[in-house]
Amino acid sequence: MKTIGLLGGMSWESTASYYKALNEGIKSQLGGLHSAKICLYSVDFAEIETLQHQGKWDETAEILSQAAKSVEAGGADFLMIATNTMHKVVPEIEAHITIPILHIADATAQCLIDDNVTKVGLLGTRFTMEQDFYKGRIIDKFGIEVIVPNAVDQTTVHDIIYHELCQGDIQAQSKEKYLEIMNNLLDQGAQAVILGCTEIALLVQQSDTLIPLYDTTEIHAKQGVEWSLS
Ligand code: GLU
Repeated sequence: MKTIGLLGGMSWESTASYYKALNEGIKSQLGGLHSAKICLYSVDFAEIETLQHQGKWDETAEILSQAAKSVEAGGADFLMIATNTMHKVVPEIEAHITIPILHIADATAQCLIDDNVTKVGLLGTRFTMEQDFYKGRIIDKFGIEVIVPNAVDQTTVHDIIYHELCQGDIQAQSKEKYLEIMNNLLDQGAQAVILGCTEIALLVQQSDTLIPLYDTTEIHAKQGVEWSLS
C-alpha cells in the first residue's frame, strides 16, 4: 500500500470527510483491520482564507508548498490537496516536490466522461466558479462544457461555503437555496452538477435531488484509494 499525502484543513470539516472516506475505501478493498496509510498536514484555514480574499495567492502557494514538502519528507508517495479552490496553486506546489499530485478536477472529469456527461454545472467557491484553473482544465483537457451560476447565485454559493459549511454550520434554508441554484443550471442544459467544493456534500446529498451530483470529495478520495493500492 502506498502512503497518501494529504494537505488538509481547508476546511477541517471536509478533511474529516476525506479521512473517513480514505479509510473506508481501504477497508472495503482489503478488509479486516486494514486502514489507509496517510501523512496529513492540516493548515490553519483562517490564514489561508484571509490571503485568498486579499488575492495573495503567492503567499498561499508558499504555505502549501512548504506543507507539501513536509508531507513528502514524511513518506508520502503521492499528494492529494483536500480542496478544489487551492488547486489554483498546483503549479507552484508541483515545483517544490517530486511526488505526483492527484488532481481533483481530473478525477472528477474522468467520472463525467465515463458517464457520457458533456455539459455540466459547477458549484464551488467564487474562485473556482469564476477562474480558469479548474473549469478551464475540465473544458480544455476533457472537452466537457462547464456552466456556472449567475453572479447573484455565485455570491450565495460562495458565502454559504465560507460563513456556514467551513464552520460546520448546516442550515436547511441554505440547502433549499443550493437546490434552487442547481435547478437553474439544469434549466440551462446541465446534465449533472459538480459539487466543486469539498464541503458541499455536508449540505446536499444525492438523495435530495434527481439531478446527478458529482461529489468531488467522494470522487477524489475514491481515486486516492485506487492510487494507494495500485
Ligand atoms: N474546501 C473548499 C473547496 O473545495 C473551499 C475552501 C477553500 O477555499 O479551500 O474549494
